[in-house]
Parts: sequence; C-alpha cells; structure tokens
Amino acid sequence: MFVPQIDEWQPASKQTTDFLSGQHKLVIGGTEQASASGQTIETFDPALGKVLAAVPHAGQSDVDAAVAAAQSALAVWQKIAPSERARLMMRFADLIERDAPWIAEVESLDSGKPKAHIAAVDIPLGLGAIRYNAGWCTKIAGETIPVTSPDMLVYTKREPIGVVAAIVPWNFPLCQACFKIAPALAAGCTVILKPAEQTPLSALILGKLALEAGIPPGVLNVLTGEGATTGQALVVHPGVAKISFTGSEEVGKHIARTAANTLKHVSLELGGKNPNIIFSDCDDVDAAAATAAGAIFFYTGQVCSAGSRLMVDAKVFDRVVDRVVSEAQQLKMGHGLKAETTLGPLISEDQLKRVDGFVEESRGSGIEIVSGGKRAVGDLASGSFYEPTVLTGAEDTDRVVKDEIFGPVLTVQRFETIDDLMPRANATNFGLAAGIWTRDIAKAHAAAAAMQAGTVWINTYNQFDAAVGWGGFKQSGYGKDNGREGLDKYLQTKTVWVNHAR
Ligand code: NAP
Ligand code: MG
Repeated sequence: MFVPQIDEWQPASKQTTDFLSGQHKLVIGGTEQASASGQTIETFDPALGKVLAAVPHAGQSDVDAAVAAAQSALAVWQKIAPSERARLMMRFADLIERDAPWIAEVESLDSGKPKAHIAAVDIPLGLGAIRYNAGWCTKIAGETIPVTSPDMLVYTKREPIGVVAAIVPWNFPLCQACFKIAPALAAGCTVILKPAEQTPLSALILGKLALEAGIPPGVLNVLTGEGATTGQALVVHPGVAKISFTGSEEVGKHIARTAANTLKHVSLELGGKNPNIIFSDCDDVDAAAATAAGAIFFYTGQVCSAGSRLMVDAKVFDRVVDRVVSEAQQLKMGHGLKAETTLGPLISEDQLKRVDGFVEESRGSGIEIVSGGKRAVGDLASGSFYEPTVLTGAEDTDRVVKDEIFGPVLTVQRFETIDDLMPRANATNFGLAAGIWTRDIAKAHAAAAAMQAGTVWINTYNQFDAAVGWGGFKQSGYGKDNGREGLDKYLQTKTVWVNHAR
C-alpha cells in the first residue's frame, strides 16, 4: 500500500492522511472498484515533485461498464420526483461542505494550489453550482405553441440528453467537475466524470459523497485515467450522448472532430488570452494595477480567465508596471498547505518547461523581463515553482502576447487611444474574457460592446457566480457553463402534436 510522506512539510488532517493512504477506486454503478486490468496511474504533489497517490487507470471495459451503469440509471434518476432530485443534490452539496476542510487539503496536495484559495474560491464555486442547479430541478418546463390549425395542440417537453461524459482539467478540479455534474443531474442526465490525470483525487471524493447523499448508483460514475485512453474511449463511445469538456484548445478541437462520428453533443470551454485594460481615468490606478496582478498570478496563472495581457494607457504605464511588479514580489511562493503561501507551483515539470520556454524566447528579443523570469531555487527547487514574471516591450505579434502561456507570466503593453486599442485587444483567436478599468461610463460600454469575449468585467476582474453563464467566443469554445444556458445544454426539446378533433 502506498503511504504518503505528507508530514514531512506540514501536518495534514487525519481524514486527509486516511484518504491518501487508502486504496483509490473507480466509482461505477454505485460500487467502488479497481480497474479491470488492475492498472494504475500516479498523481504527484507538484510542490515537492513527489508521488502522492496511485489511482486506477480505467480501460475500455471500465468505460463500457460505466456507460452501461449510467444508461440504466437514466430511468431511475428520471423517475425520481424533481423535488426529491433537488433534495438529493442539496444533500450532496451539504456533504461536500461538511468535508470541505480535508477536501481542500487533498486538492491542495494534488494540484499545488494554496489550500486557503481552494477553501475560499474553488469549493464555494462548486457548492454554488450544485445548489443553484438543484433549484432548477423543479423548474424545467416546456411550452404550448399556438399553431395555424385549430385542431392541434402543440406542446414541448424538455428532456435530458442522456449519458454525459464530463471531462475536466487540472486547474479547478472539484469546481469544474461541479460546473458540469450539477446542471447535468438537474436536467435528469447521468454522468461519467473523467478528471485530469494530474488531479484525480477530488473527483473520487465527489463520487463517494454522491452515493452517501443517496444519489442512486450509476447516476454519477467516476473514471480516473489518461485522456488519450480513458477520455478518448468516452468520446468515441456510442452510449455517451454528450461530451462536456473543459481543457485545451488542441484537445477540444480533437474531441469535436472525433465526436462528430457519432454526432454527440459537444460543449467546449477552452483557453483564453485575455486583455485586461487600464485607462488612465479609472477610479484608482493603483487598485486597478493590484487587481491586475491578482488577475494573472492567481493559481500561478494557470487559469483560463487569467488577465495575461495587461494593456495600459501610456499616461499611467510606468506607475502600473511598478505596482504590478511590487505585488508580484510580495507573493509568497510555497507549499499549498502552508498558511502563508499565496503562490503555489506549476502543475508539473512539463508545464514549467513550457512556461520557461516562452520567457527564454523573449530574452534578447527586445522584450524586457522586469521581474521574475526563472524557476525558483533553494528550498523550492524540487517543486515546479516559477517566479511571477512581468514582461514589457513585447509586440502584438510576439508569441508571449498571442499564445496562452498558462503560467505566471504577464505582458504589459501600452496604448495611446481607444481606437488604437480595441483592434489590438481583439487580435487573438481566443475570446474568453476581458477586463476594462475606467470611470467614463460611455467609454466602458463602448469598449464592452467592441470586445469579442464571452465575459467582460468592468472595474473588476475574475467574478464568477453559478447563476451567470461562463464560456467563450471564437476559439475559446462554445456552450456556457453555469446559469440557465449551462442547464440548457443538457436538455433536448421534444415537440408533441395532438389532434384534439379526434
Ligand atoms: P487538456 O490537456 O486539454 O486536458 C483536459 C482534459 O481532457 C483532461 O481530463 C485530459 O486528460 C482530457 N483529455 C486529453 N486528451 C483527451 C482525448 N483525446 N480525449 C478525451 N479527453 C482527453 O487541458 P489541461 O492541460 O488539463 O488544461 C489546461 C487548459 O484548459 C488550458 O488551455 C485552459 O485555458 C483550459 N481551461 C479552460 C477553462 C474554461 O472555462 N474555458 C477552464 C479551465 C481550463 P489527461 O489529464 O489525462 O490528459
Ligand atoms: Mg497531482
């Protein structure tokens, strides 16, 4: 049995140690089981670069079993009264809240993210999604449609789409899982959750808690494994009706192409290269700059909505750069379980190499590395820690400005006028989010209207709510999570014509 050495850096709770030292199992049809092949994959603590746990690697027969379980659970789940489904979902949320302190520890160990951030952001967002969507169970209704023929009654029914495969990334593991599970269950669908291989543990906890909450076996199944095998098997499986995916642009496009063979429904939440724009007339330039630092450095920049392209009015450029750098230098890198940590590691060495590659490419190209620009040394050398990095002088055509780095690397560019700014802000294939800082209401609305992005924040950044749809334009994907649109994508409309003259 694998016994984690977690007490070497910070004592974790007994529940955390008990969970980590237990055997991890797939959740299929209400039973916890090893993979049929017995194969496992390892997940790491990226702050130490050490193995944290081994989880099953679900193969084709496990995928077949999970799809069969989810298909037979469809009828069971849909037979339960909507009010009772809502109650079960609320109970599920309550159990996650009950266990939140140790779930946050497990998630912190698995992802490197500061425990305090998980407790303050990830878990409340996940709970919010479950509770918000539980409210929808009793409110999913069709309509009657007046038609030309007087003898016809036409009504619609909103029916669940069927078995949903929820494939999620490693940056917000529990929270992203809830964004998909919650509306799917509210719609009456059943779910197979496939977490990222780097962060499989919180998904397994969710699978167990759903059963403890009384959600029937097979309604939420959890398959850990690799994307190219477990994930791919779900995408091609004819028994899966919908793929709900959050992850990279590359994998998202691959999934859309592959799912076309069985005409599965697909929704894609992909990357971003989000402009965060500070006008000199904003209420408080220093506060905007401090928020801009948080917008990029939160979770070490591994956030799809990261404000990675800071565009600043030339009049306040130097002041903003100084403040952002000072904020970056105040961040405390360290292990996610330490209370003082505000910046965790990157998820893996591969990710660190990728991030560093962007920065190295900038050296000697006219781009100035104002702060950071290298991996952390000393006590942190064995983890994937990278210094928060601020670059100035980059051109719009440079890769650091165009590509999603997914690390703690901010480019700060200047602009002179709004007319010069907007085409540059939109000159990206992505269209996920944008920030605008100004006190001029006309300018704020004009910029928001011109912005090609699914979300625009004015005088704020990184605001999320279960009631508000989240998703991108352009190659940031299609199909919102959260809000009413987040529910709609798990429903299909049936039209019924009744000839009441006969
Ligand atoms: P990724 O490599 O695309 O992986 C995402 C998920 O897809 C993982 O569970 C992965 O499994 C799985 N996967 C990989 N190949 C697959 C295949 N052929 N078939 C089915 N599933 C497959 O993305 P990531 O590196 O984990 O996450 C980072 C990306 O996610 C960034 O681009 C970021 O912008 C994006 N993101 C977007 C949002 C949003 O809301 N728009 C939110 C968060 C993250 P493995 O882990 O086993 O490879
Ligand atoms: Mg891990």
